[in-house]
Amino acid sequence: MSEYRLTSEIIKKSVAKNWDEAKLEWALREVYEADGPETCLCGHYPIIELCVLENKKNGGSATVGNFCVKKFIGLPSDKIFEAVKRVRKDGTKSLNAEAIDHAYQRGWINQWEKEFYFQNMRKRKLSARQKEKKTQINEKMLRNMRRPQTSARTTVSH
Ligand SMILES: [Zn+2]
Repeated sequence: MSEYRLTSEIIKKSVAKNWDEAKLEWALREVYEADGPETCLCGHYPIIELCVLENKKNGGSATVGNFCVKKFIGLPSDKIFEAVKRVRKDGTKSLNAEAIDHAYQRGWINQWEKEFYFQNMRKRKLSARQKEKKTQINEKMLRNMRRPQTSARTTVSH
């Protein structure tokens, strides 16, 4: 992968024209697991764990691989992917705060579900109904993280 290509592409899409300021303009809008490999903004291929970033100042967007988001931009996408992988292996395990917050921001779960999860995520003993609800929320998260492959995604304009 090319760090230079990533930073220059991000700067191009930012209001600030230097990297340290430009990267602060970006927030996570969506994270997803692609059904087929896609390309990171840095040019690296194949990438399965992707993040759609949104520029808070000009509303622009950029699709960047999870690795580059974590390493260069410093947003917590990696924590979300970690939680999703853990829960996929074992549906009774807990998502983490980052994943739950993301699911709520995206409208995948409602406020009641978010509060329920935060109250119960560290409890070892749950009632049968609580367990069922938690598993349902886990399944929603896993389902929403998957995104079918689109061919016309990262078109780099010069
Ligand atoms: Zn990359």
